[in-house]
Amino acid sequence: MLTLLKLLEDGRFHSGQALGAALGVSRSAVWKQLQQLEAELGLSIHKIRGRGYQLSAPLALLDPGVIQSQSASCAWPVQVHDSIDSTNAAALRAIEHGGVAPLLVLAERQTAGRGRRGRKWASPFAENVYYSLVLRIEGGMRQLEGLSLVVGLAVLQTLRQLGISNAGLKWPNDVLVGQKKIAGILLELVGDPADVCHVVLGVGINVNMQSTEEVDQQWTSMRLESGQLFDRNRLVAELSLMLQKYLARHQEGGFMAIQPEWEQSHLWQGRNVSLIAGTHQIEGEVLGIDSQGALRLKVDGVEKVFSGGELSLRLRDDS
Ligand code: ATP
Repeated sequence: MLTLLKLLEDGRFHSGQALGAALGVSRSAVWKQLQQLEAELGLSIHKIRGRGYQLSAPLALLDPGVIQSQSASCAWPVQVHDSIDSTNAAALRAIEHGGVAPLLVLAERQTAGRGRRGRKWASPFAENVYYSLVLRIEGGMRQLEGLSLVVGLAVLQTLRQLGISNAGLKWPNDVLVGQKKIAGILLELVGDPADVCHVVLGVGINVNMQSTEEVDQQWTSMRLESGQLFDRNRLVAELSLMLQKYLARHQEGGFMAIQPEWEQSHLWQGRNVSLIAGTHQIEGEVLGIDSQGALRLKVDGVEKVFSGGELSLRLRDDS
């Protein structure tokens, strides 16, 4: 089915006969595959008698060769899946089966894209970036400290470099424009963090997505913010280069070296928030983050520090 899609990728008309000849199948088999493309991937295909078939908008699919040549200094092997449950899950499976890190796993769509605490990440076909970089870490509690914030900052700087200048960070791991989520980060770890472990840096960025029924909170995309279509291969390459730079800084100087820059881009500095920890809710004012990436809140006039993967911030109405 994806071979057919690649033939249509240019957005031009192709006759059923030519498509059938290229695929070595009958015209009716082509017709069936086209219907599958529409039903399964949500694509829209124009059919005009005498001219053939055309995608309603040209597609630019992910291309590992282009990504590797545009981010040559990273030299990370790249896997691109047409459809996968989750790029984080695929990256972890690759390691379990003896794969070697670093490894970058990308997909055109995720059928079970994940957020924190089992939440779902909406991942339609060929519109966004679903990116999971798996790294091997040795004896590195310090290398893990604040790592998800470092990834957030690298994502933010990549978006800014490509013209999304008003994006900012929300502790611990979201990238927002105003109140709308444009990217999310999910780190997952296997192994022993005090000895040898692997960590997957999972990133979802809304790139060219213009509508979805699947997201139950405010969201946006690079295209909605700028009115432009973005080249996802270039975005992936720029993200890899940016991540490489920030990971090196983090490894050399620890999170402490990155904390001031992170705080400068924190959208909710000084705001009144509710911190949700399971069934508990704590009200406070955001003072910033500490040198390990933990959240500093003023609660009843006293500074308190919070960290851990199960915490969520919400802005209060009076902020
Ligand atoms: P938190 O404040 O704890 O980060 P969150 O609701 O943002 O909470 P995440 O796990 O970071 O939780 O992200 C998952 C949530 O993000 C989903 O429940 C959904 O509301 C939203 N979401 C899912 N897919 C997308 C997407 N493609 N773009 C923006 N938001 C999405």
